[in-house]
Amino acid sequence: MTNTLQPFNRVVIAGGGTAGWMMAALMSKLLGKQLTIKLVESEEIGTVGVGEATIPALHTFHNLLGINEAEFMAATNATFKLGINFEGWKAIGEDYFHSFGSTGNDHWSAGFQHFWLKGRAAGLARTYTDYNPETVAAFANRFAHLPNQALNYAYHLDASRYARFLRAMSEACGVQRIEGKIARVLQHAADHGAARAGDIAALQLADGSRIEGDLFIDCTGFRSLLLGETLGVGYEDWSHWLPCDRAVAVQTTSVRDAWPYTRSIAHPFGWQWRIPLQHRVGNGLVYSSKELSDADAPDMLSRNVEGELITQPRLIKFLPGQRHKVWERNCVAVGLAGGFVEPLESTSIHLIQRHAIRLMQLFPAGGVQQADVDEFNLQSQRDLEHIRDFIVLHYHVNARTDSALWRHVREMALPPSLRHRIELFRETARVFRPSDELFAENSWVQVMMGQGITPERYHPVADLMGPDELQRFLDDIRVRVQRIVGGLSTHQAYVEHLCAPFRGAAEARAGG
Ligand SMILES: Cc1cc2nc3c(=O)[nH]c(=O)nc-3n(C[C@H](O)[C@H](O)[C@H](O)COP(=O)(O)OP(=O)(O)OC[C@H]3O[C@@H](n4cnc5c(N)ncnc54)[C@H](O)[C@@H]3O)c2cc1C
Repeated sequence: MTNTLQPFNRVVIAGGGTAGWMMAALMSKLLGKQLTIKLVESEEIGTVGVGEATIPALHTFHNLLGINEAEFMAATNATFKLGINFEGWKAIGEDYFHSFGSTGNDHWSAGFQHFWLKGRAAGLARTYTDYNPETVAAFANRFAHLPNQALNYAYHLDASRYARFLRAMSEACGVQRIEGKIARVLQHAADHGAARAGDIAALQLADGSRIEGDLFIDCTGFRSLLLGETLGVGYEDWSHWLPCDRAVAVQTTSVRDAWPYTRSIAHPFGWQWRIPLQHRVGNGLVYSSKELSDADAPDMLSRNVEGELITQPRLIKFLPGQRHKVWERNCVAVGLAGGFVEPLESTSIHLIQRHAIRLMQLFPAGGVQQADVDEFNLQSQRDLEHIRDFIVLHYHVNARTDSALWRHVREMALPPSLRHRIELFRETARVFRPSDELFAENSWVQVMMGQGITPERYHPVADLMGPDELQRFLDDIRVRVQRIVGGLSTHQAYVEHLCAPFRGAAEARAGG
C-alpha cells in the first residue's frame, strides 16, 4: 500500500525550551528527510529555566537519537541520579529514599516486601534500603556502570545546555530555527486541502513575517499560545490535590562533590529541591501561595542553600493540572503547554519524551485522523493521571503537624484510583502495575513504606521459609548489595573521568 494522501509535511514547532528541542530532535531524526520542520523561539521571552532532574526512561529517548552518553554528560554538565532522598516528608526528622532500582529479590507470586515484612516481624531484617544497591550506593556517594542494569540511574542536567545540545542535533538533521516573537496565531477561515476551517494556518511574528504549516506543535510553555489561547482547549485544575502553585529557583556554586541523587526537603509551606550538577547546584522552593508569600519566598530559599548565589531568585507561578486534550485539530501540545503536575518526581521531561515518541507513532501523514487524535489524547491522559496519583501519595500519607498544608493533604479526599492502591497495600502489602504505567511496583512500595504505611499482613508464601532460610535469603541479598557498592568509584571521580574526552568540545560549544 502506498501513502497517496495529500501532502502534509510542513511542521511548525512553536517554542524552543526542553520540549521544543526534544520534539525537534526526535522528529528530524526519524522524518527529517520527508518533512520541513521549523522551530520558532524567542530569546527575549526565554525558557522556564528549570527542569534539571530526570528519570531512567530518558535512556530510551537518547538511544532513539543515538546520543553518546559521555558526550551528552560533558555538554550538559550532567551528573548521575540514583533516586531521590525525601527528607522530612513522612514527619519532621524522618527521611526515606526512592531509588530507581529494585529492592531484594521478588518471587513471582509476591514482591520482596512480603519477605522483608516477615523478616522484620521476626527481628531478622535490617532496614529496607539495605537490600537496594542504588540506595546504598547513593549514600556512599558512589557510582559506576555495571552490566545487566545492576545500578539503574538517570541524570541531573543543565536545562539550557541540554536545549542547546538538542538544537545542534536537530539543525544537523535539517530543522530550521527562527528567532522571533509570535504575535498572532492565524486560523484557516475555510476548508483548504487537508485543513479544515478553524485549524491553525500560520504563526505571525512580531516583525510581520508568517510561518505557515500543516501540523503545529505547541511548546510555548505555560502560555500555551496555540492549544490553550487560540484553540480554547480548557484546563483541568488539580490544585485541590496538589496545593503547591509556586516555585522560586536559584543556582548556587558547589561547595562539595556532586552527590548522585536529588534531595527533596519538606518544609511547612511545601518543599525544596537540591540538584547537584558538575559545575553548580540547582535549588528551588515549591510552595503553596496560601502558606508562603511570593515576597518572602526568595529570602526563605536563600537562607536554605549552600554556596554563593550565581543567579537571582526566579519566581514561577503554575497551576497543577492538564489540558482537557493535548491534541486538538492540527495542533499538539508538548511540555508545559499541555499540563504540569509538579516537579516532585521529575516526570515532566519524561512526559515530553512520551508525547514525542507517541506523535511519531501516530504521525498524521496525509492529514489529521480523528482516531489518531483520540488515541493520543487517551494515552496522554492516562500517563498524567498515573503520575498525579503517585505524586499525591507523597503528600497525603504524612504525619506532619506543622502547617495547614500538611493537615489539608492528609485529610483531603483522594482520586479513587489512588485510594484503592493505598488500601490494597495497607491491608495486604500488594501492589500491581498495569503494563504501561511509568512507576513500577518497587517505586510504589518504597514511597508507601517511606511515607509511613505499614501493611497489616504479608503474602503466605513468605511463611514457606523457616527463620534460618529467611535469614540466609536476606543476608545473601545484603552481602551482594555491599559487594556491588564496594566495587564502585566515587561519583565525582567517575563523572570527571567519563566526561574528560569531551570536555574541550563541550566548553567550546558552551562558549560559542
Ligand atoms: C519549578 C519547576 C521545576 C521543574 N523541575 C523539573 C525537573 O526536575 N524535571 C523535569 O523533568 N521537569 C521539571 N520541570 C518541568 C520542566 O521544566 C519542563 O517540562 C521543561 O522545561 C519543558 O518546558 P517547555 O519547553 O514546555 O517550556 P519553556 O521552557 O517555558 O519554553 C517555552 C518556549 O516557548 C517560547 N515562547 C513562548 N511564547 C512565545 C512567543 N510568543 N513567541 C515565541 N516564542 C515563545 C519561549 O521562548 C521558549 O522557547 C519543572 C518545572 C517547574 C515549573
